[in-house]
Amino acid sequence: MTEPNAPLPSASAAPTRLPRLLHGGDYNPEQWPEAVRDEDIALMTAANVNVATLPVFGWVSLQPSEDTFTFEWLDAVLNRMADSGIYACLATATASIPAWMDQKYPDILCTDASGVRRRHGGRHTFCPTSPDFRRLSTDLARRIAERYRDHPALLLWHVGNEYGGNATSGRCFCARCAAAFRTWLQEKYGDLETLNARWYLAFWGHTLTHWEQVEPPYANGESQTHQAQRLDWSRFQSDTLLECFKAEATVLREITPSIPITTNLMGAFLPLNYHAWAKEMDVVSWDNYPGPHDPPSFVAFSHALMRGLKEGQPFLLMEQSPSQQNWQAYNWLKAPGLLRLQSFQAVAQGAESVMYFQWRRGRGGIEKLHGAVVEHPGRHDTRVFREVSELGADLARLGDATLGGRVSARAALLFDWEAWWALSYSSGPSTDLQYVQECRAFYAALYGLGIQTEIVAPDADLSRFDLIVAPVLSLIESRTAAAIEQRVENGATFLATFFTGLVDNNDLVHAGGAPGPLTKTLGLWVEETDALPKNKTNALRFERQLGGIEAGRTFPSRLLCDRVRLEAAQMVAAYTDDFYAGEPALTVNTLGQGRAYYLATRPEDDALTAILAALCAERGIGSPLGGGTPPPAGVEVSGRVSPGGSPLLYLLNHSLSSVNVALPPGTYTDLLTGETLAEIASLEPRGVRILTL
Ligand SMILES: [Zn+2]
Repeated sequence: MTEPNAPLPSASAAPTRLPRLLHGGDYNPEQWPEAVRDEDIALMTAANVNVATLPVFGWVSLQPSEDTFTFEWLDAVLNRMADSGIYACLATATASIPAWMDQKYPDILCTDASGVRRRHGGRHTFCPTSPDFRRLSTDLARRIAERYRDHPALLLWHVGNEYGGNATSGRCFCARCAAAFRTWLQEKYGDLETLNARWYLAFWGHTLTHWEQVEPPYANGESQTHQAQRLDWSRFQSDTLLECFKAEATVLREITPSIPITTNLMGAFLPLNYHAWAKEMDVVSWDNYPGPHDPPSFVAFSHALMRGLKEGQPFLLMEQSPSQQNWQAYNWLKAPGLLRLQSFQAVAQGAESVMYFQWRRGRGGIEKLHGAVVEHPGRHDTRVFREVSELGADLARLGDATLGGRVSARAALLFDWEAWWALSYSSGPSTDLQYVQECRAFYAALYGLGIQTEIVAPDADLSRFDLIVAPVLSLIESRTAAAIEQRVENGATFLATFFTGLVDNNDLVHAGGAPGPLTKTLGLWVEETDALPKNKTNALRFERQLGGIEAGRTFPSRLLCDRVRLEAAQMVAAYTDDFYAGEPALTVNTLGQGRAYYLATRPEDDALTAILAALCAERGIGSPLGGGTPPPAGVEVSGRVSPGGSPLLYLLNHSLSSVNVALPPGTYTDLLTGETLAEIASLEPRGVRILTL
């Protein structure tokens, strides 16, 4: 155990930047009697915890009826936390609506895609356009903010919780939401004629003749026929739920302008366009719950996606399980050392907190079998408690050395929620074509090479990137294509794939077909697309050398095969099979100072790695280890530079074998152990090193 936390400074010094790496998690004192709450604070200190998130689900405990408020229990908890040097990530407590509210205002409850209104129960069950919900939630946020604005424990605001994380994904199909959708569409399109055209409603004779005929895509209505309608419905629902967040955040900003505001996101979460959400948040935070079989690159992808929401700024790891989950088919324990490794993976990727769901395992309810720092025996002499405490001591040892660190990535992967929606709603070309899976695969190839990669929105500033990879960007706007074209002309390498540039932001096929506004950049056009069933492959044979890939090498490919027609582009590799054998499968177009590649089919992952290695080599992009050599298998490498500080090199061994990593020239200090290293860094199984020059 390290020294207990010092009591917190006065509120007048309330930090807007984090004072240190945060360590803690969700705390639900309302589930426990007073004696247990006392014990919790002592245990938190013992576990080197310095932050607790509360009371996320505390609405009814703070407001047992519309005119009754009971904040005294929270006063006591926060006072004890402050006295023990534990910060509060203070929730607005609006994630679960009280039963009295559902009873008094039944239309607060959301309605599902079949038009059935929910009953009381579960969480996040509010209709996002409900005026009663807006009034009551902002009123509670105001009371909490006014009561605790000067409380020394207050560090951060946590609005709502996992927005969209319910049975309807936060969507509501009630009559009020349908009317709001019509208003939203009228503002967007102006007149019905434009709506009919942009939604392509002439198809199957669905042309509308009056605004009142516009409906949400009900399960027993237009849910499948018109993708443009579903796209707009997704935008409307994401925006409308965001309005609920903004309503609470506005109140908090007015009362406590220096306290940062967040809500916990969920990684690659289809229903909400997090690029829009992040603009309204002071700091991004997210909940990391990988499945037991997810590879480390999968988790790294999610961290990078969340980091990229604010163009590389640090983020918070708001939740992870310290041991096991409860919603998988088989809820494996995290083996000893895995929690530490996954936590440092988050820090290496830019997290400034390591936090858990939850602090103490509940006795009942659906999450009673979900892991917690304090398990059901309620003791501190358990494996999990020991691992958490030791991790907390490690984080305390780092002090502020990792805070504010930025990745200096020269490679970018474009990720677009709207492209994801469009592809998800598309009928064809293949049920195996999954947008996020493809993005993860391309990211994993770069990750395996040790290439630092930012995942950014298509409208991000691309000027700092020398390699831009855009997997399956089927929906693309002309301005995105223009930005890519300009960046290529100025010297970047661009890689597009099969099924790119097909549709505009109404899911209407671009004039002239794919790749639409990227036709000039890629120097080709797509004639047709073959979708291969699971048991069928083609192959690409390299007609010329590309980096380390010799001419004549052949790699199997699968999924889709675009048949492309070259204009300015040149063939790099050709198909070997089917009636289009000999036609281009990989092409390159030189444009200005840069090059644009088109990968018309999906090679297996090892070939993907070889192709990306060649493209990185072409631009002199390497890993933080220097040279063109990738890190040893299973080793994750990340380089981050703190403001005004020296670069930090993170090495994480995800394998179960010891491994040696060759270091760039210099003498390094391991911030976790104090060891001095040169030339070689040895890593134990699941070992972590954070090195500074
Ligand atoms: Zn509604």
